Amino acid sequence: MIRQLTYFLACALLANPVFASLRFRPDGSFKIVQFADLHYAEGETSGCKNMLPAWAAAGPCSDLNTTQFMGEVLDLEKPDVVAMTGDNCIGSSNNTKSQRAWRVPMEERNVPWFSMLGNHDAQGTLDRAGLIRVDMESPLSLTQPGPKGLYGEGNYAHQVFSSDGTKPLFNLFAMDSGAGADSPSGYDWIHPDQVAWFKQENERLGTSIPAILFFHIPVEEYDTAWPFGGACASDECVGVHKEGVSMQGKNVGLFEIASQAGNVKMINIGHDHDNDYCALYKGMQLCYGGGTGYHAYGSVGWPRRSRVLELKEDGTISSFKRLDRFGNYSKIDEEVIWSPTLASAAQHATSK
Ligand SMILES: [Zn+2]
Repeated sequence: MIRQLTYFLACALLANPVFASLRFRPDGSFKIVQFADLHYAEGETSGCKNMLPAWAAAGPCSDLNTTQFMGEVLDLEKPDVVAMTGDNCIGSSNNTKSQRAWRVPMEERNVPWFSMLGNHDAQGTLDRAGLIRVDMESPLSLTQPGPKGLYGEGNYAHQVFSSDGTKPLFNLFAMDSGAGADSPSGYDWIHPDQVAWFKQENERLGTSIPAILFFHIPVEEYDTAWPFGGACASDECVGVHKEGVSMQGKNVGLFEIASQAGNVKMINIGHDHDNDYCALYKGMQLCYGGGTGYHAYGSVGWPRRSRVLELKEDGTISSFKRLDRFGNYSKIDEEVIWSPTLASAAQHATSK
């Protein structure tokens, strides 16, 4: 009976986002690893794309190499949470199986994650709601379906609390940018009701603390900040822009609303596997994760990668990317995304 009650309580607590709340470590650090575009399919029989001949000669390459790379990043970085920014899996003969396969590296290391959907996830045997359901079956999943009636599946927020658990210090948002659509870019977009939800939820959670947004398909401003083939058109660009921005089909103002809120410091997306830049535009860092998965297209000779976000309790966000074994697991493009010190220094400089 006691055992049953303990089990019941454990389940109730695990289903409760407060229990699952994210917390800074006692040393004041909090780390997020982003895995973008795994395109996980059938496992061992789903081969790697765009490999250098020398890489291909290194041995068989499949989805299993993606699993291995994720494990290496988790072992090196020991993150507090993983953000899966969509195209986690791609249409396969058994999407339940592929949805369960990509999370194995986190399950083996007891690392929680929150995920969102890309344009490819639901091309197999499960629809978007079904994919979210399979994700949520793991006790380590912080993924949520989001409010009923809102466009898309998986629009939700989490907060990161102070190490003593008393104060929320960051708002994290996951949003669904949809799949294909009849639009100029051929992609769906974050719809007006989602933008309104984001605004309301950010205000409810508090705009006095920094917020970070995660979704899959870039908003138009990624291209405005750094037009493809052109020069950086914003305050700062770090990383590479190797392919055009395959943006959302319509711009209904998410960026503008986020910019007006004042507390959104960073947007993280996937979708364009060969872009891994951050562009500082109107006070927000617009960042790509860079492609992580080997079964996803890449760029020959360009190692797969993962973006790492390091947060501090004072609101500071730093970031870098960790390359795969073909890049010797190097740490590249270390940068401060935002810090209260830099912000006040900039404000001081403009007020002079
Ligand atoms: Zn993709």
